[in-house]
Amino acid sequence: MGKKVSVVVSVYNEEQALPEFYREAVKVLREITWEYELLFVNDGSQDESLQVMKDLAAEDSQVKIISFSRNFGHEAAMIAGIDYSSGDAVICMDADLQHPPECIPEILELMDNGTDIVNMVRTKNQSAGLLKNITSAGFYWFINKVSDVNFEANASDFFAVNHKVARVLKENYREKVRFLRGYVQNLGFRVHNLNYEAGARVAGQSKYSLKKLFYFAVNTILCFSNMPLKLGIYAGLGSGALGILMMIYTIFTWVRVGAPSGYATIVVLICFMFSVLFLIVGIIGEYIGILFSELKDRPIYIVDETENIDRR
Ligand code: UDP
Ligand code: MG
Repeated sequence: MGKKVSVVVSVYNEEQALPEFYREAVKVLREITWEYELLFVNDGSQDESLQVMKDLAAEDSQVKIISFSRNFGHEAAMIAGIDYSSGDAVICMDADLQHPPECIPEILELMDNGTDIVNMVRTKNQSAGLLKNITSAGFYWFINKVSDVNFEANASDFFAVNHKVARVLKENYREKVRFLRGYVQNLGFRVHNLNYEAGARVAGQSKYSLKKLFYFAVNTILCFSNMPLKLGIYAGLGSGALGILMMIYTIFTWVRVGAPSGYATIVVLICFMFSVLFLIVGIIGEYIGILFSELKDRPIYIVDETENIDRR
């Protein structure tokens, strides 16, 4: 039997994009020498996505469905897809055709030649606005500065891993607060970056608001770096030094012109110091929040039903 590729597709309210995605994907998958399965992960869609998928699965047994009990997020959907995959390679992609299925043969060729991980790097993103591009560049600059890992700025949620890497993700990377794309880039193994052009969405709308992206960025920084925790030490050293300077200055003025007034100075300093202090307490709070969610150990996703899947 030949090798098999599992194509994992995360789906959240994509009823309009799904039929076209299926058509395009199957067109490519039928041409390759690998066997394939199309694993749709329904991430709690509120529209008719699940029904559309079920119709596809009824006609095509290579279409498999994992349906969540509610929305767990894009990453959870990819993780579930990897968990349920049975292929020698797993390719994660979006359902909106922003990740072109035409890249699949090239990915599989790399896999055939011994590559363990293929990172798809976006050279152009037609649907991202200027604001999204700037904030995303800023985020990557910052995370690469403060963490000891190195992220490729234009890497996307379009990537492929072979079964060795998939096993590591299944067994060892079960964090509740996480950055899947970041793990994949920093596991080691033989990695290959492949360029692609992200087209515009075929239908529907982006599910990532700027607010969501902001929280995502903050969590990622907290997950991959302990630097924010050290801010307290730096702030303490800084304000200590400032305090000593202020003390020397105060003693001098006192000797030369008598007791200094300085009400304004006191008010400003107190406000400043307290804001720094609260900020640091807040940062520690965020870390405690992450610890708490890891400790509770709730599932990353809950499966409601599956289709065409016999294991589990
Ligand atoms: N998605 C998901 N769960 C979510 C949000 C999005 O499974 O909570 C899926 C969505 O259906 C799409 C992919 O993740 O297939 C990427 O989402 P989107 O296209 O909205 O993001 P963008 O391409 O704008 O970054
Ligand atoms: Mg998209």
